[in-house]
Amino acid sequence: MTLPLWFDPEEMLIGGRWRRGSETLAVENPSDGSEMARVARGTPFDIDEAVAAAQDALDGDWGRFTAVERGRLLMKMSALVLSRIDDLAVIEAMDVGKPLSQARADVTALARYLEFYGGAADKVMGETIPYLNGYTAYTLREPHGVTAHIVPWNYPMQIIGRSVGAALAMGNAAVVKPAEEASLTALAFARIAEEAGMPAGALNIVPGLGEEAGAALSSHPGINHISFTGSVAVGQLIQAAAAANVVPVTLELGGKSPQLVFADADLDRALPFLINAGIQNAGQTCSAASRILVERTRYDEVLEKMAACYRELVVGPALADHNLGPLISRHQKHIVEAYLSLASDLTIAAQGTIAGDAPATGHYVAPTLIGGGHGGHRLAQEEIFGPAQIVIPFEDEEDAVAIANGTDYGLVASVWSENGPRLMRLAKRLRAGQVFLNNYGAGGGVELPFGGTGKSGHGREKGFEALYGFSSLKTVAAWHG
Ligand code: NAD
Repeated sequence: MTLPLWFDPEEMLIGGRWRRGSETLAVENPSDGSEMARVARGTPFDIDEAVAAAQDALDGDWGRFTAVERGRLLMKMSALVLSRIDDLAVIEAMDVGKPLSQARADVTALARYLEFYGGAADKVMGETIPYLNGYTAYTLREPHGVTAHIVPWNYPMQIIGRSVGAALAMGNAAVVKPAEEASLTALAFARIAEEAGMPAGALNIVPGLGEEAGAALSSHPGINHISFTGSVAVGQLIQAAAAANVVPVTLELGGKSPQLVFADADLDRALPFLINAGIQNAGQTCSAASRILVERTRYDEVLEKMAACYRELVVGPALADHNLGPLISRHQKHIVEAYLSLASDLTIAAQGTIAGDAPATGHYVAPTLIGGGHGGHRLAQEEIFGPAQIVIPFEDEEDAVAIANGTDYGLVASVWSENGPRLMRLAKRLRAGQVFLNNYGAGGGVELPFGGTGKSGHGREKGFEALYGFSSLKTVAAWHG
């Protein structure tokens, strides 16, 4: 199938004008390894122009938009996204390699982010502060100005929705650098923004390489905030770049998230959550539940039940909509295979199968369930970013907390138990930005603040918290006698 593009993918949007770059980058289809399009390779010069255009927008039309007008614009974009759901889902599925039904869910999530932030735009308020006699004091929430958004390849639409949606709702002007592996839906998003009536320069999209366009954007003296989602290694570079310009930064990085299964858990309810949270998007998810910790008395039973499910899993081309698609690239496949080779001292409890219709040139890895693990093993410490989960026994609550908290990360944790006080205790003791009790992910609701602790990053996106993060608080105190 050819990409259902209704726009020229080689153009980038800068200051309301679509233009070609001097060079292009290949867009690979991970399902078969073929080149299916080319996108512009944005340069530091393009980034300069985009940042200047964003500042012009703030000084011009976009800066004069009221909060209500910004909200309406985002709502209109939300409706346009849904009206294009079929095309957007196919583009995202082909570009990222994710099963079509998952790509469709990502389009719905993008529309929902735009709806939520559209509705919230005129509901962010400051406070009046009781103060000294003769004064009236209050706070204003103002946009930072030009916000930089550096986006990874695993959930391009969702991540653009949650970060760019919130930034625009608050009245910032955005410059977006999508990942070189998957830029197409970012360009589609910009077309939709234009169709909805986004003023020139309020949203700029410059595809390109991380170390080129990405580095130029994150170190640009004209930006006032950076929102970065990606790896820890690049996050550290971004934080250093932000420090040089003294601008705030939100880092959404990796994870090694555990699900804790106690002996009294409702296993029938837990089982699909244990597995789906590990294999969704072929495990290329920051919040993937890559560690399953099970109380020893039910360890064998949980491992066997999970293994039975794994044996049914099928990996294949994105558009065929199997349980899993390919990994994003040959490079990512090699990383995951190297990690799996570390399991030689553990037990491969089960693997899924690669479908007969999967071309040998695609980047397929069979989902792998690993048993017999312990918390200190490299497979239990490092982010694999592929379809693999390690199942680890624990003795009691103390042991479970020690293993769960025993990595550098702190993104998500979940607890499965019918013991209410234990759930409450562990919600406090687990080191994670979000803790889910008897569920995992809570349906991904856009309303729920999301972010990490430790090496998983800092700052919060999603929900109202994101609006606070994309704004700067100003205190006004007036003396009137
Ligand atoms: P990555 O860090 O390699 O790339 C992310 C983005 O940064 C890309 O747009 C890339 O071009 C850009 N980039 C690369 N080098 C850069 C540089 N020197 N300066 C500026 N920008 C640069 O990450 P990835 O491989 O695309 O994504 C996988 C990682 O992202 C995983 O670790 C995953 O856990 C994490 N992630 C986190 C979340 C979250 O919300 N916490 C969500 C999705 C992915």
